[in-house]
Amino acid sequence: MRLEGVVGQRHALRQLSAELNAGRLAHAYLFVGPKGVGRSTTAKALFAAMNCRESAAETPCGVCGHCHRLNKGTHEDFITLAPPTDAASAQIKVEEVREVMRTLSFAPFAGGKRMVLIKNAGHLNPTSSNALLKTLEEPPPNNVLVLTVQDPKDILPTLVSRCRRVNFTPLDTSLVVEQLINKGVDPQAASLKAAMGSGSLGRALELDQEQLRGELERLKVHLGKAGGPLIDAGLAEELVAEHRGPQRIDRQGLAESLDLWAQLYRDQAVIGRGQIRMRRFWSQARRALLKPGAGDHGLWV
Ligand SMILES: [Zn+2]
Repeated sequence: MRLEGVVGQRHALRQLSAELNAGRLAHAYLFVGPKGVGRSTTAKALFAAMNCRESAAETPCGVCGHCHRLNKGTHEDFITLAPPTDAASAQIKVEEVREVMRTLSFAPFAGGKRMVLIKNAGHLNPTSSNALLKTLEEPPPNNVLVLTVQDPKDILPTLVSRCRRVNFTPLDTSLVVEQLINKGVDPQAASLKAAMGSGSLGRALELDQEQLRGELERLKVHLGKAGGPLIDAGLAEELVAEHRGPQRIDRQGLAESLDLWAQLYRDQAVIGRGQIRMRRFWSQARRALLKPGAGDHGLWV
């Protein structure tokens, strides 16, 4: 059976379909890739293909009891754990993990397979991670756990080593444009959003015109300052401060902001050769800021 409803991600789908059809699915997967490129959608598609009652069909039927309840979001054996928000400080709490692990001690309620999808597993704190470890090593039969992360370094190595890895890649811009237009976005806005989304359909969908306009205004202010943004440390400090949580810097959020600004600059600024210097500046800034510990040690202060 094929996995349905995922945009792009040919390699990931090929790997999972092959494992599913050969009866070689792992009991725990690590879906690695940027946000908004289809990791959770793929988990859902895999669950449908694992459970659809029309097992001889090429793709999940969409109408049997399993498919129907999954599509309505009411399937009792498709369990999702996620941090309450995207903020760097948000955590997946140990009580939530323990409760789900208790559920796993019962056979799947609908008689098929159960999936536990842990979205943005980088938000598991050390206690939550430890609560998950034992089950992850050997879940009871008919359970599959899927953890999504942007980078395996976001979670404990002991969790990584217990999962089979599947890689997800940024989507082609043309694919994102096509999807946005399908969702009713005006074609001109679709191109801009796709470019700003850096290969993430989710990110492109989240971007709103007002926010883009606001960021553009902010960029213009910094461009107008004496010396320009190349030596304007205030801008870097401003960006870091926006992504500083109580415990750590939201590196992905910071990277997205830097990408957005680089993209805005590329698309909108018109200062001739300066553009090349600016792009170099942004890529250097991105590398420096995302080095482990960089922001935490006041790199820009
Ligand atoms: Zn079905």
